[in-house]
Amino acid sequence: MTDSPASSPSANLSGAAEVESQTQSLDFVRELVRDDVRSGKFQGRVQTRFPPEPNGFLHIGHAKSIYLNFGIAEEFDGICMLRFDDTNPETEDTSFVTAIQEDLRWLGVTPWGSVRYASDYFEQLFEWAVTLIEKGFAYVDDQDADTISWQRGGYGQPGVESPFRDRTVEENKALFLGMRNGESADGERVLRAKIDMQADNMWLRDPVLYRIRRIDHHRTGSDWIIYPTYDWAHGQSDAIEGVTHSLCTLEFADHRPLYNWCLSHLDLPGDTPQQTEFARLNITHTVLSKRVLRKLVTDGHVDGWDDARMPTVRGLRRRGYPASAIRRFVDRVGVAKINSTVEVELLESFVRDELNVSAMRRMAVTKPLKVVISNWPEGLVEWFDVANHPGNPDAGTRRVPFAGELWIEAEDFQLVPPPKYYRLSPGREVRLRSAFLITATDAVLDEDGSVVQVNATYDPESRGGTAPDGRKVKSTMHWVSAAHAVDITVNLYDRLFIHSHPGADGSDPLSSINQKSREVCGGKGEPVLAEVEPGEVVQFERLGYFAVDLDDPTVFHRTVGLRDEWAKISKSKNKG
Ligand code: ATP
Ligand code: MG
Repeated sequence: MTDSPASSPSANLSGAAEVESQTQSLDFVRELVRDDVRSGKFQGRVQTRFPPEPNGFLHIGHAKSIYLNFGIAEEFDGICMLRFDDTNPETEDTSFVTAIQEDLRWLGVTPWGSVRYASDYFEQLFEWAVTLIEKGFAYVDDQDADTISWQRGGYGQPGVESPFRDRTVEENKALFLGMRNGESADGERVLRAKIDMQADNMWLRDPVLYRIRRIDHHRTGSDWIIYPTYDWAHGQSDAIEGVTHSLCTLEFADHRPLYNWCLSHLDLPGDTPQQTEFARLNITHTVLSKRVLRKLVTDGHVDGWDDARMPTVRGLRRRGYPASAIRRFVDRVGVAKINSTVEVELLESFVRDELNVSAMRRMAVTKPLKVVISNWPEGLVEWFDVANHPGNPDAGTRRVPFAGELWIEAEDFQLVPPPKYYRLSPGREVRLRSAFLITATDAVLDEDGSVVQVNATYDPESRGGTAPDGRKVKSTMHWVSAAHAVDITVNLYDRLFIHSHPGADGSDPLSSINQKSREVCGGKGEPVLAEVEPGEVVQFERLGYFAVDLDDPTVFHRTVGLRDEWAKISKSKNKG
């Protein structure tokens, strides 16, 4: 909280706006797509896809991938489809399928055509696996997972060929069909590609293409007991759909030779899709891994996937982050070939910039302290017309009542003011925003010596907040009339992770959890706060932006504070 009046919309250009106006050149992925279109590759067609695995909720890292894939399709007159990469029935669920589609809608993108599923292609993938066997490029291995794993060797360490590697085509076909038909137990056999056990790239050391899992699938039920691996499903699904540019994150770069190898041995219906990798989004004080996010939920560190502290799309939405700010943020971060971590303050700066324009100004007190105006005429209520938005006259005004008992912020009063404390203290005059100048006279203490009430007088001549004699006060404070206040719950948030790069040093990211990431306050709000809509974001004067909870309109989540921390960071970066 600051002593200065609330930020005005004309406040100097924030960090986000500043950096955004700098460079606007094409990133390397868009350059590649542009060149492909120009050279007539794929007949000038551009088709991308967003391929989530339905095993969790989307997070802001996914939003980067979404806006990249949908953005490129939009910019190059192409299409982008949604395909669920549902090859792993153990962890996947229909509820995630529904939630992911809802989140995409909220993010403002519309997948082209009907929703696709890798499981739509199970039959085709199976047939292609048989083709691979017939060409002598795949075999059934009877060894267990551990044996296969150690035989793979490692970097600079030779691989060991499986004793089952030279089975005949006939034997392999019969065994693979048997796997599908239930003749083998789970884990008893796998289908492997026959590539090169001495390849430098570990993914080419006879990777597993199919495993047996007697687990019902959320879409195909018990139709299948063998399931393709990611590597067998992904590129082929791209090819079936006609994807031209298959964009994924850097950790899949090592898979690219395998992606290409699989496609090169099949008679594809059309062009061979091309995989390109880009850097993941990482944000300081944040973890973007479904595995860790799930742990936060299951261990009870947060209320759920949609807790306002979560970097999930649902969490950010509850927190009051506009989808448009998320989009501008990921556009600004851009796509690079090297992983890096972006300061969370930059994201907040984009959010603050948008909310500064859109949010109505309101007054609310998070930690209320009672002020009694001793010279206030008994029973009088003054109504002030206060602007909803100082920079936007079209936003109109609302009526705010003032009476003899008020709530102010507890930390806006000090019995014995420290140096440079210009807020209320005995003998000090301050402005109550848009209302009157008041002067504290004395305070009522409880038996512990804590202030429980401030007594003050007001200057009737200062209606609207200025004195006719032109005398100045150093502080303007927010307030709420006690008789008219609505009770609200205010959630103040701090970073969910204390360390800027949680887990980066190899430690468990959960060991860096901030145990004080949420402070719940019983606050008081001005009367119009009884009429807010779920999800609406308002600015509480001097406190920050607050989003109305999606389920309970008496609960407010602090979206971001008013101060632009990013401006400070970028300034010191430019200096350094
Ligand atoms: P996580 O690591 O969080 O579990 P994932 O990669 O397993 O994520 P998927 O559902 O497979 O999750 O991801 C769908 C798409 O989103 C993939 O193309 C993936 O590369 C991309 N993606 C996931 N996380 C990020 C991120 N942090 N930044 C950019 N893209 C991401
Ligand atoms: Mg994945």
